[in-house]
Amino acid sequence: MSCRTACPHSRPRNRPCTALAVANDWQERSGRSNVDLVHLPLLRVALSGVLATAALTACGSPAAAPDAGPERGMSIVSTVAPLTSIVANIAGDRARISGIVPEGTNSHTFEPPPQASAVMEAADVVFVNGLQLEEPTFELAEQNAPDDAVIVKLGDEVLPESEYLYDFSFPKEDGKPNPHLWTDPIYAAKYADVIKDTLVEKDPDNADYYVQNHERFVGRATALSDALKADQATIPAGQKELLTYHDAYAYFAKTYDWEVIGAVQPSNFEDPQPKEIARIIDQVRERELPVIFGSEVFPSQVLEQIAAETGARYEDTLRDDDLPGKPGEPEHSWLGLMRYDYVTMIEGLGGTATNLKALDVSDVAPDQARYPQ
Ligand SMILES: [Zn+2]
Repeated sequence: MSCRTACPHSRPRNRPCTALAVANDWQERSGRSNVDLVHLPLLRVALSGVLATAALTACGSPAAAPDAGPERGMSIVSTVAPLTSIVANIAGDRARISGIVPEGTNSHTFEPPPQASAVMEAADVVFVNGLQLEEPTFELAEQNAPDDAVIVKLGDEVLPESEYLYDFSFPKEDGKPNPHLWTDPIYAAKYADVIKDTLVEKDPDNADYYVQNHERFVGRATALSDALKADQATIPAGQKELLTYHDAYAYFAKTYDWEVIGAVQPSNFEDPQPKEIARIIDQVRERELPVIFGSEVFPSQVLEQIAAETGARYEDTLRDDDLPGKPGEPEHSWLGLMRYDYVTMIEGLGGTATNLKALDVSDVAPDQARYPQ
């Protein structure tokens, strides 16, 4: 049994145990002792003595982690789960890959605990999304990664500043562009290009493997894009309109000719003020929106209120950077995530998703990455 299934942190979403899960992952990576772990301030708060003993016994030893990836090869660090999945598709079993941001966490405000520095100290390559999404994690990498490590901001590589989008939750006056490029398959494929080039340069012995995986992954991203285009044509005319809670579809909408009429979540990631809610209610009524979309990562009663007042259906299961299923399951992948979201949007708006549902969304290479839960 893997450490992940033996631990109490294998649990439903929105659980209180994230600090333990992350710390265990890092402990296994870094080989740090249990003594280091019990000194984590977060753990002292989160754990009772009994739980702590059980957790550390089950997960304390690197030998208890057969899912830890290959013994040799590069050490790659990534941040949010969709990026980790794209990296895993290219790197396959030729590298050890660690995600840093636990799934189901607000990646926009995530602060890596100091213990993450040990993972950075061992990194050969660090991939972050960039576009100012994970600045604290990027800074931790800059401070701790070895001099010869490569630190790549994928979004900054593929998107010129002139094409940055600023919108509802990412207003220009705050200075942070909308960072969600990975919800658009065109940009996800560009991320894969940069990841492939980086790995080929850093590890030329495995170049053929990375190139082959990249080609197959881009093929699947293209198939996803084609299926999306075919299925979105079944949405009744004029209804490719999104009102979402989390503002994750700006680039997607631009590429695929949707209209994001609003995002409920303000730039401080709190719930909106009553005046703003009233304005959104007016907008939903005016547009006669049949459905409004919530986020699985950001449960909010505000959308329930808007739905109740307008008669729109509240679809609360979009997932922006939280992969479906559990690590190791076929749909736990960037491809599975985006297929799920597109099907949810298209069916919610009255279309059919036959082409998307027929897609193969399995990974093109074995995914042995660590996804903190
Ligand atoms: Zn987000």
